[in-house]
Amino acid sequence: MPAVMWFRRDLRTRDNPALVEACAEGEVLALFVLDPALWCPSGPSRRSHLTASLRALGADVPLAVVPGDPVRRVVEAAREVGAQRVHVAADFGPYGRVRDAAVERALADAGVELVRTGSPYAVAPGRVTNGSGEPYRVFTPYSKAWAEHGWRAPVDAPTDPAWLSLRETTDLPDIRLPEGLALPEAGEAAAHGRWADFLDVVAAYGDDRDRPAVDGTSRLSVHLKYGEIHPRTLLADLAGLPNPGAATYRKELAWREFYADVLFARPRTARDYLRPEFARMRYDDPRDHLEAWQEGRTGFPVVDAGMRQLRATGWMHNRTRMVTASFLVKDLHVEWQHGARHFMRWLVDGDLASNQHGWQWVAGSGTDASPFFRVFNPTSQGRRFDPEGAYVRRWVPELTDVADPHDPGPDDRDRVGYAHPIVDHAQERREAIARWEEIR
Ligand code: FAD
Repeated sequence: MPAVMWFRRDLRTRDNPALVEACAEGEVLALFVLDPALWCPSGPSRRSHLTASLRALGADVPLAVVPGDPVRRVVEAAREVGAQRVHVAADFGPYGRVRDAAVERALADAGVELVRTGSPYAVAPGRVTNGSGEPYRVFTPYSKAWAEHGWRAPVDAPTDPAWLSLRETTDLPDIRLPEGLALPEAGEAAAHGRWADFLDVVAAYGDDRDRPAVDGTSRLSVHLKYGEIHPRTLLADLAGLPNPGAATYRKELAWREFYADVLFARPRTARDYLRPEFARMRYDDPRDHLEAWQEGRTGFPVVDAGMRQLRATGWMHNRTRMVTASFLVKDLHVEWQHGARHFMRWLVDGDLASNQHGWQWVAGSGTDASPFFRVFNPTSQGRRFDPEGAYVRRWVPELTDVADPHDPGPDDRDRVGYAHPIVDHAQERREAIARWEEIR
């Protein structure tokens, strides 16, 4: 029987169980729906990466791209090729779940079944629960249960599938990136290439992962986001590497799965506080300082370096994601949602679960909440994690020749044309804690 493989966040042929299921049925239509509900809110980074990734997949698989509402377009495609089943990897995000339920109903009306096989995760959200059957709110017990639950071995790519096509498809749009933004290569081959390179240095990951000047992390977040490589593939390779770096890396993958699980259990936390008392906190009007933060003009070198790295590469190092987020919430007293929106606009790996919960973690309102009173000092964070100042100098070139790039004096700032601090950190730290005391 002909079948449809509806690709979404799984833009790969290897280790793709849904694709294997579809191909086991007979001839397959490889379908991608350009859904305005997802396309319109995406910024240039994600639009560009998605189209590049689809082009890369299209070189291996004759992909039929159609624009519009999936509820209509998937049913039409299934009808046109005479499929009785549409195969997908399950989506556990707030929008994806609602969309898939609607598509499933529309398909059922047409006598077609929606078959979910696998997900973008090693362990599907909702699968791991605590002793009372409740979702976890704290990472460590979750990660233990996650590891005990385990995952299936990767599957091979289907061999020589017979592909179907549609009468009418659309060309992928050409995305012009804003000046100064350059993104990493997209696609399954690029993901595997990056992973192979990273495996050579994974042993040092535990030490290097916190140094933004060092290329010591995998940079796989974007490839995981679009499913160009599956976490199970990574976990299978790591299993053969008994070094501490591999163990630390596995833990980071568990964070990704944890946040997906938290968002699945509490979809409203994509917008609202996980800890509702934080909604009562006093915040400032974002208009006062948001733009300076977005543009990397706060006068705090490590904050500005992170924000400029984001705009130049569509990616920011995890350490500076934490420092810049903390600065917005605790030094500028701006609600986390404003920062999360900016990150989602520019991050090429922008992922609702990891981003919103990364932000809530920093803001103190999320899971495992880092205590609110622990306020990052941007200057000492810079000194500690970028001791040579190489990261700051790379992204804030005004500071190249300044003796102390983490804390340039007023004369140096004037000489090189670098901003003076827009706030006094010590004072704003006290202010943040005072506001927090009001809601405790
Ligand atoms: P590595 O250090 O190589 O880590 C390997 C993988 O583990 C990552 O690719 C990612 O999938 C996962 N991972 C690592 N750290 C985390 C974490 N803290 N939370 C969840 N998963 C993690 N990650 C995103 O993928 N998308 C986002 O939109 C995103 N927004 C963030 C916003 C804030 C405020 C913070 C503090 C963190 C955010 N993160 C996000 C998590 C983390 O910063 C990135 O996953 C990481 O920097 C990506 O680079 P990498 O692939 O080289 O990471």
